[in-house]
Amino acid sequence: MITLTCHGAATEVTGSRHLLTVNDQRVLLDCGMHQGRDLAKRLKRDSLPFKARQLDAVVLSHAHLDHSGALPRLLRRGYRGPIYCTGATLNLLAVLLKDACNLYLKDLERDNLVRKRRGQKTQNPVYDMEDVLAVLEACQVVPYNLATAIGPGITLTLLDAGHILGAAMVHLALDDGQGAPLRLLFSGDIGNADSPLMRDPAPRPEVDWVMMESTYGNRNHRSYPATLAELETVLEAARGGVVLVPAFAVGRTQEVLFQLGCFYHQGKLTGWHVVLDSPMAIEVTQIYDQWLELMDPEDLAMLSREGSATLEAFLPCLHLTQNTDESMGLNRINQGLIIIAGSGMCNGGRILHHLKHRIWDDRTHLLFTGFQARGTLGRQLVEGEKRVKLFGQPYAVRAQVHTLGGFSAHADQRQLLAWLADFPGPRPKVLLVHGEEGAQLALKATIEAQLGHQVAIPEPGQTRVLRS
Ligand SMILES: [Zn+2]
Ligand SMILES: [Zn+2]
Repeated sequence: MITLTCHGAATEVTGSRHLLTVNDQRVLLDCGMHQGRDLAKRLKRDSLPFKARQLDAVVLSHAHLDHSGALPRLLRRGYRGPIYCTGATLNLLAVLLKDACNLYLKDLERDNLVRKRRGQKTQNPVYDMEDVLAVLEACQVVPYNLATAIGPGITLTLLDAGHILGAAMVHLALDDGQGAPLRLLFSGDIGNADSPLMRDPAPRPEVDWVMMESTYGNRNHRSYPATLAELETVLEAARGGVVLVPAFAVGRTQEVLFQLGCFYHQGKLTGWHVVLDSPMAIEVTQIYDQWLELMDPEDLAMLSREGSATLEAFLPCLHLTQNTDESMGLNRINQGLIIIAGSGMCNGGRILHHLKHRIWDDRTHLLFTGFQARGTLGRQLVEGEKRVKLFGQPYAVRAQVHTLGGFSAHADQRQLLAWLADFPGPRPKVLLVHGEEGAQLALKATIEAQLGHQVAIPEPGQTRVLRS
């Protein structure tokens, strides 16, 4: 018997966790964190609804925290098996999990101080750095396209998802002794084939079931050329001011740097300095530079045409901040500056300090380049909120807010349909995950009408028998 239970990213975008059972084997696909505000409170509420010790294997699609962030707690709860992922994912995971752990412990310390002052009991951390190190030790690297046995009757193949560095679609052949192995493809996050740096998603294999993401199931991104034209217009309008780019440290930052590099070589960045003000994004950019062989060959050709061996070298007006003093020093500069800082959804990181100094000033341009989850400050800002809270204080939003859709690392509706239509053989059955309700319903209806697949939307915690 083969069953699947979606314990997260079911009718929502974050918290990707899917438990697959094949006879008595239990494989967890991703172990992500729910994202939103206040890490410490969220972690306390966010339980893992399965027994960590009873899992036999974990497969990680990619390093983003909404897919990996709960791994340390899984080990804290006694999971001792392997975590399968690509080598690049392992490199990124080290950076992301350590950073998330530091943020969490800081949040918790602050909460505990408040509790002490109120005479309440303080709380112990639900995980710490030791658990993070245990995760990294448990990782077993599986290169793309190499079929690997990961348990009795379970064969895993990771395929390039084209989403971020190292991101994989997870192909599983599951032999439960009931005839030919059942073939399942878990999409992880599906890349935007138009965006720079990453390759297009790898060709799909023939499968029986597809579990696919649906983040942008109800909309299409602005085309990439239109996005670039818009970026140019924003830079033009922002001359005499400062542009703040809240960016995810992994993926988006590197794409933006690459694109700004292209502008630089086209003579379109005259008078601008770009500052990458995020220790994590700086570290991640170095990891991207180590794995350039996984990037889109056309973009690599562009780098080598300009004689650049790294993304950093490709953008000569780029400055990397070394410390917080330097970051604070940026506050004194009032024009010609593009500041890229985390976090991408403005729920933490140095971007908050830059917002505090500039959000009330109409010379500031705020440039969003990625998805903003419900409950985040970023979502409030893209929805046009005129007053927001920063560090507990109200601030007027006078900055001009721009959203550049075409930079997304996710496929849009058109690309999701093309991705699904590309499976060879009989139409696989489809389960939609990793999307909010509106996006999922729209995608389901469109797939059924245009492609004719049978589509279901798993409810959180509901177990589905894939083969009895
Ligand atoms: Zn992702
Ligand atoms: Zn995701």
